[in-house]
Amino acid sequence: MEELEGLLRGAALRVTRPRLAVLGAVHTHAHADTDTIIGAVRNDIPEVSHQAVYDSLHTLTAAGLVRRIQPLGLVARYESRVGDNHHHVVCRSCGVIADVDCAVGHAPCLTASDDHGFVIDEAEVIYWGLCSDCSTHRT
Ligand SMILES: [Zn+2]
Ligand SMILES: [Zn+2]
Repeated sequence: MEELEGLLRGAALRVTRPRLAVLGAVHTHAHADTDTIIGAVRNDIPEVSHQAVYDSLHTLTAAGLVRRIQPLGLVARYESRVGDNHHHVVCRSCGVIADVDCAVGHAPCLTASDDHGFVIDEAEVIYWGLCSDCSTHRT
């Protein structure tokens, strides 16, 4: 908990029980969806409301302590691995998500060939395929 408190303080966020519990849940459940996080938080704080968890997730994401990913067709997932520009591979069949380290070491194609005047700060890479479980069950 000490370490999580330090993260909150480092991001100039007030330390609250829901924020600590949500941050802890995201740290222990990589790529968890909101329902999973609510379940995990309720182990710590049984009376926590959905709204408090949503608000905490929003605050932590805005502060950059949590990264939110939402592959097309799936509910949003959250992870604590932030700021390293890693990518994700998503199973088309069961929706399982795994981390993929960046192959080039800097944000891919962040220098757009034509930025249309936008100030670009993110480029997202998602690999799609079948996980080993799903590809084995198919054959
Ligand atoms: Zn799968
Ligand atoms: Zn990840």
